[in-house]
Amino acid sequence: MSADEISWQPPHLAVAGGGDFPVRHVWCVGRNYAEHAREMGVDPDKSDPVFFSKPAASAHQQQRVQYPAATEELHHEVELVVCLAEGGRNLGAEQWAGRIFGFAVGVDLTRRDVQARFKKAGQPWELSKGFDQAAPVGVIVRASDWSPDPEAGIELQVNGILRQQATLGEMIWSVPKLLERLSQNLTLHAGDVLMTGTPAGVGPLKVDDRVLARISGLPVLEFSVRGA
Ligand code: MN
Repeated sequence: MSADEISWQPPHLAVAGGGDFPVRHVWCVGRNYAEHAREMGVDPDKSDPVFFSKPAASAHQQQRVQYPAATEELHHEVELVVCLAEGGRNLGAEQWAGRIFGFAVGVDLTRRDVQARFKKAGQPWELSKGFDQAAPVGVIVRASDWSPDPEAGIELQVNGILRQQATLGEMIWSVPKLLERLSQNLTLHAGDVLMTGTPAGVGPLKVDDRVLARISGLPVLEFSVRGA
């Protein structure tokens, strides 16, 4: 095996109306809905956006997600996903609108028991968020065809039972504000994806569960959880 034999492609996510979106990096935001911040034991009035990453390779559109290793508490977090057509560094909120390629529904799958253990030990909780298939994403809708309306509903059902329900207007930091804040820390690029945080109601998934995630006006994201 030599270096010139290595072949690798980033995940390509389907786009409504044709084409696909190659994923360069998956950025995530924690605590962007006040009720969820409270359920995680944090005062939303005193918290700043918490940014973290998932591996780009964890983004996918597969209909079956294998229950991950090394956890007994896999949690769902439904989120609005923003896909960038163009990057930038240290840009203001008003400069980001024209750089968005499109939007989708996503689920930030989380090994909650692993996260709790790392938090308690004061260690980075990277592995609670980054694992195989950790970022299911729905079909992307171009920004020319859809934009986040504060009234738009965001919800997640497990086996037909409603677990999470809110409106996008409940986000503490808007999409442009999040991009402004993140780009003050590093350079964003075309192909970057931002998962914008989850509303309250996160909870466990088990093998054979069927997950349905929805944001008004975007294609529904559905997947099932399969055993190892
Ligand atoms: Mn999340």
